[in-house]
Amino acid sequence: MLVGDSASLIDPFTGEGIGNAMISGKWASEQARDALYEGDFSVNALKQYDKTVYKKIGGELRVSAVMQKLIKYPWLFNQFY
Ligand SMILES: Cc1cc2nc3c(=O)[nH]c(=O)nc-3n(C[C@H](O)[C@H](O)[C@H](O)COP(=O)(O)OP(=O)(O)OC[C@H]3O[C@@H](n4cnc5c(N)ncnc54)[C@H](O)[C@@H]3O)c2cc1C
Repeated sequence: MLVGDSASLIDPFTGEGIGNAMISGKWASEQARDALYEGDFSVNALKQYDKTVYKKIGGELRVSAVMQKLIKYPWLFNQFY
């Protein structure tokens, strides 16, 4: 299971990644605990971690990726000042 920067969870717009590194570490540890408990370390079982990441912060990161692309157009951002 990849967490934090190794999973590309840094926010592409703000450059912040500490929070996502910490929360993804928590989710990964919970998944590892469940795998230990169930004795199931299969790809299928561990995929639940990926699903959690996509569900909880996937949308936010997708929006940030779009924002990162839009920053090339300062006139657009200046509308919000
Ligand atoms: C200049 C700068 C400013 C930033 N400012 C902010 C900010 O203000 N707010 C914010 O939220 N985020 C900020 N970030 C991003 C934030 O630092 C990262 O997103 C966050 O630290 C990622 O945490 P991580 O645990 O995934 O990785 P890291 O913090 O990079 O931890 C990975 C660790 O693994 C170690 N390592 C690597 N390879 C191996 C190996 N083979 N064996 C053993 N250990 C290994 C490394 O030495 C490192 O200690 C900034 C980043 C930079 C570069």
